Amino acid sequence: MDKVNVGLIGLGTVGSGVAKMLLSRRQFLARKAGIPLSLRRVSVRHSRRSRVGVDPRLITGSPREILQDPDIHVVVELMGGIHPAKEIVLQAIAAGKSVVTANKALLAHHGEELFRAAAKKGVDLYFEASVAAGIPIIKSLRESLIGNDIEVLYGILNGTTNFILTEMSRGDGRSFKSALKEAQARGYAEKNPSLDLRGIDTAHKMAVLALLAFGKTVRPDQIFVEGIQDITANDVRYAHDFGCTIKLLGIAKRDGDELEMRVHPTLLPNNHLLSSVNGVHNAVFVEGDLIGDLVLYGEGAGRFPTTSAVISDLVDVARNLKYGCTMRVPPPLPVKRIRRIKPMGQIEGRYYFRFSCIDRPGVLSRISRILGSHRISIASVLQKDRRREHIVPVVITSHEAKERDVQEALAEIDKLSMIRRKTVSIRMERG
Ligand code: NAP
Repeated sequence: MDKVNVGLIGLGTVGSGVAKMLLSRRQFLARKAGIPLSLRRVSVRHSRRSRVGVDPRLITGSPREILQDPDIHVVVELMGGIHPAKEIVLQAIAAGKSVVTANKALLAHHGEELFRAAAKKGVDLYFEASVAAGIPIIKSLRESLIGNDIEVLYGILNGTTNFILTEMSRGDGRSFKSALKEAQARGYAEKNPSLDLRGIDTAHKMAVLALLAFGKTVRPDQIFVEGIQDITANDVRYAHDFGCTIKLLGIAKRDGDELEMRVHPTLLPNNHLLSSVNGVHNAVFVEGDLIGDLVLYGEGAGRFPTTSAVISDLVDVARNLKYGCTMRVPPPLPVKRIRRIKPMGQIEGRYYFRFSCIDRPGVLSRISRILGSHRISIASVLQKDRRREHIVPVVITSHEAKERDVQEALAEIDKLSMIRRKTVSIRMERG
């Protein structure tokens, strides 16, 4: 083989960055990969639209022209979505082509099927850009940390939500709505940011990481997910009073043969390595038995950080093709070690509660009695100034408690006549 021919499907934000690098850094990449990478064909949805920097003769409106071209060795899927991306990836594999994809939604829902197909056919399926874009977490888990037994993995994996929470924690106490507006004005949030805000995007990425870190196929619907849409500027401020910062965390923890999988806003102590990850940045924290604590930090989205990850995969695949050693790093497949996803009710942790009470004597003792009757002990209490309609926020943090006990206690407390709004609860993690 004297060169590796690449077929690119999708020429949007990421695809155009990848095309630009393949065309403008030909010699540079050939030197690094040890073999030239040649962009042979590009498939898009609207083939008549003019594309800057790409020879129109390379462009086609039909992915089939790539899938059926016997001279194309690698298909790079950058179209996004699940269908027809899934069918296209399966057809590429069936045709004996290696695949590079950035598609987290596709891998979260159908990763195991695609990895099995690639392993059966003996082709590479690489996916570094699918989680945290420029941060090399996939390669780290597949290769660098391979000798570690991983106990815990935390991720700040969504730049939009991290930007909003960072803006809300600035001195002027910005509201959620105003921070979201700012994110949209700067192009960090989509017009419909619901997948990001509700934590679904983070859950997709956690599903991909769970297979690598714990050898468990986790469907997105098996992950407990809560978004940041109900976090208020007051919660952010009170968290600061407790020496904490609120982050949307993806959390995966192994407990014997069970795996906790959850995504929710979390109070992190300010001495936690992830508490200072601000703005659109992403970070992943991994605790391995050999390596100890490890944090990878960087840009988790955007044209060039994502391009960096796709090019890294392409160079790996090209080297494997050159030396005839595809599957040198085999596709991740589940192992039988984890028996089940731990039910959310059994998860234990500390909690932050914000009760909205009417200003009346005895409120605190009623609340603490109910918490106590559900085996929840109080770590600290913060009573804030009276607000509108004589409502006083009472903020309490708990010691370790079971999620099921917490939910039962809150249901009981929220029925009290002195409680005026649904109680806000936010889970806490240790430093
Ligand atoms: P995008 O800007 O929306 O671009 C999508 C591209 O795919 C467009 O060029 C579109 O063609 C093409 N396309 C759509 N349907 C097609 C079809 N049926 N056949 C052929 N081409 C088709 O998307 P993106 O932001 O680059 O994202 C691509 C992938 O990277 C997604 O899986 C995304 O999750 C992932 N990713 C993105 C980022 C990021 O920062 N953007 C970061 C990490 C991972 P037209 O140009 O003709 O519309």
